[in-house]
Amino acid sequence: MDTAWREQIAKETDCAFRFDETARVLYSTDASIYEIQPLGVAYPAHADQVSRILRFAYERGIPVTPRGGGTSLGGQAVGRSIQVDFSQHMNRILEVNVEEQWARIQPGVVLDELNAHLKPMGLLFAPDVSPSNRANVGGMIGNNSCGSHSIIYGKTIDHVLELDVVLSDGTRTVFKPVGDREYGEKAATGGLEGRIYREIRRIAHENRDEIEARYPRIMRRVGGYNLDEFTGDGPFDPCKMIVGSEGTLAAVTEARVNLVPLPAHKALSICHFSDLVESMEATVEILKTDPSAVELTDKAILDLAKESPAAAHQRDFIEGDPEAILMVEYYGETEGEVTDRLDALDSLLREKNLGYACVRATTAAAQSNAWAIRKAGLGLLMGMKGDTKPATFVEDTAVSPEKLPDYIRDFRDIVHKHGTVASYYAHASVGTIHIRPLINLKEAEGVTRMRAIAEEVRDLVLAYGGAVSSEHGDGLVRSEWNEQVFGPRLYEAFKAVKAVFDPNGIMNPGKIIANQKMT
Ligand SMILES: Cc1cc2nc3c(=O)[nH]c(=O)nc-3n(C[C@H](O)[C@H](O)[C@H](O)COP(=O)(O)OP(=O)(O)OC[C@H]3O[C@@H](n4cnc5c(N)ncnc54)[C@H](O)[C@@H]3O)c2cc1C
Repeated sequence: MDTAWREQIAKETDCAFRFDETARVLYSTDASIYEIQPLGVAYPAHADQVSRILRFAYERGIPVTPRGGGTSLGGQAVGRSIQVDFSQHMNRILEVNVEEQWARIQPGVVLDELNAHLKPMGLLFAPDVSPSNRANVGGMIGNNSCGSHSIIYGKTIDHVLELDVVLSDGTRTVFKPVGDREYGEKAATGGLEGRIYREIRRIAHENRDEIEARYPRIMRRVGGYNLDEFTGDGPFDPCKMIVGSEGTLAAVTEARVNLVPLPAHKALSICHFSDLVESMEATVEILKTDPSAVELTDKAILDLAKESPAAAHQRDFIEGDPEAILMVEYYGETEGEVTDRLDALDSLLREKNLGYACVRATTAAAQSNAWAIRKAGLGLLMGMKGDTKPATFVEDTAVSPEKLPDYIRDFRDIVHKHGTVASYYAHASVGTIHIRPLINLKEAEGVTRMRAIAEEVRDLVLAYGGAVSSEHGDGLVRSEWNEQVFGPRLYEAFKAVKAVFDPNGIMNPGKIIANQKMT
């Protein structure tokens, strides 16, 4: 591509840019297996600059990738595009309304910083991704992120009230739920925005039966576009299409998000199992006790923690040599209430003869110690010595939790059939188990094996009525499967959604609608 446009875009948009090799190398990766050098990096300070960047790109067909903390695991934060980095200057908390429990923020706000600001007010932005010290709320909106407490709080989509967006042609607008009258007015307007209102409802309604038939019936699905949010006749909320769209439809420049009260009391029990599948059977029972979290950590991670100077002391609570532990957490109004719930958990597991020990963490220090091991899991795995690493490609599947014991058994069989082993961890409460087969991706044989496992896992997930992307998104690694996962008709509907929002195809191309194979 000729580079004369670089000077021109900096001048016309009045925005800071970098096109040097160092910047392009820095932005060539996220936390996925992909590495692609961008065309350059923009550092907008306000929405008008974002609007000018998109208009410039739209007129010339230059791809653009919005970017937050760059912690995506699927490759959706990288591309041969202009990276628009919201984390540098558009990272302010603009307003908090304590009474009505909402905050107005810029997209580059880091999750931990937002929650540290809210803590003295007794409030919380609830979706809790593990890399909370780096992930931006804009990136969480892009991926429809969530975490350990999604069983009670849901996903980011459940906490977005209003979005200021820049459409692909540079138009600035505000998206929020609208009733019939306002919908009619919006749909009657000309230009890109009016077309979005008219077409999204039409596409969703024309595909209502297929959406009903093909979308997995589980809370944890983030792959594809959220057409399932538009099949009803209630208020029309375009935010629901932007959340989880991985920067492929519009750029978010401001968000009004819902807040929840901080829990009054918490208690944690770490249940130990000598078998992984047994821990999944226990999960099914534990879910009957209304926990606020049930998180799996397997022996692979616990063993790595033993060898890590930073993490070794944090696993002091472990008894024996478990194959798996479940961290089971309860929220309650009083100390007595959460203690009673831990007692009930002990009785339940004893009665069902599941697990061999439950260790309580009742103080804040003991709880944060145990959570630290869970949060450190991926870092410990990635630090594994040698070229064979726990690869990120089938790590994001989910099934309905009661299917977990059979599903994990079948998944493990696939991994073993391909001559390797995997690590298993994460959100058992909602059927999302992050599974990372050990593979050497520096060898061609490893890449071939990765693809073979991915295809079999995709089919397994479909057979179980689950989702291939349940929190990390489609990115470059899973978009290829969307046609098989949702079926050809809905994939055409996804293409139609993309074409409505982004007629010139500049917004983060190749994500959700694939333009290449995963390998
Ligand atoms: C160790 C580790 C653990 C993780 N654990 C979790 C977890 O528990 N739960 C979970 O859900 N995810 C998890 N992730 C994945 C990732 O951290 C989350 O998806 C996170 O929310 C991404 O935020 P980010 O700011 O890094 O976004 P980025 O990676 O920068 O971007 C994410 C997507 O959003 C788009 N985007 C960014 N900003 C905007 C904007 N302003 N407008 C429009 N689109 C935008 C991007 O184009 C991209 O497609 C984990 C990742 C790692 C590395």
